[in-house]
Amino acid sequence: MGPAGAGKGTMSDLILKEYDIPHISTGDMLRDNVRNNTELGNLAKSYMDAGNLVPDDVIIAMVEKRLQEDDCQKGYLLDGFPRTLVQAEAFEKIENKIGKPVECVIALEVGFDTLVERITGRRICPKCGAIYHIHNKPSKIEGICDVCGSELTQRKDDTVEQLTVRMDGYEKSTKPVIDFYDKRGIVSYIDASQETAAVFEKVKEALSKLK
Ligand SMILES: [Zn+2]
Repeated sequence: MGPAGAGKGTMSDLILKEYDIPHISTGDMLRDNVRNNTELGNLAKSYMDAGNLVPDDVIIAMVEKRLQEDDCQKGYLLDGFPRTLVQAEAFEKIENKIGKPVECVIALEVGFDTLVERITGRRICPKCGAIYHIHNKPSKIEGICDVCGSELTQRKDDTVEQLTVRMDGYEKSTKPVIDFYDKRGIVSYIDASQETAAVFEKVKEALSKLK
C-alpha cells in the first residue's frame, strides 16, 4: 500500500518476478469478469453501465473466488485492495473462511516533497504509453519519446493540486486500512523515497518472515 507515486507498480512487478505468485488487482479482475460474462461480471457491469461504482460486496465476492483458484495455493499479491476500512473488515471474514489470510502488508512511505518531484516530473508518450521522468528517467531527446518519436505530454492530473487531492483521499480512506492491519501486527513500513533496489531489499526482508 502507498500513495500514488510511492512505487507500488514497480514493487509489485519485482515481487511477482521474485516469488512467482499471481498478481490480484481489482481493476484487472473486474475487467476479466466483465469480458468473460461471469455472473459477478454481469452484475458489476450493470452498476458501471448505470454510472455507479461497483459495490464492495461484488468486488469482495470476486476476490474470494479468485483466491480459490489453483495458482493462489502458495500465495498471492493483492494490489489496490482492500482500499477502504469497510472492504478490509468484510474481507477479514473471507480470509478466515477460505484459510488464506493476509500475512504481510507492505506500506510504502514517501514524503510529500518527494512525491511532488516524482509526479510533476513524469512525462508520458500519448502514442505508445512509455513513461519517462525529467530527472530520473529522461528521454534521449528532451520531450520526444525514445520508442516511437512522439511528443511527450504530462498527465492532466500529474499536478501538485491534484496530488494534494489524491493524498487527502489516501489519508482518509487508505490510512485506516493500514492501521487495521497494524493491529494484527503484520505491517512493514518501508521508506520508499530510496532507490528502487534499496526499497526492494527492504520488501524482500519483510516477506522473508513469511512461511
Ligand atoms: Zn512513444
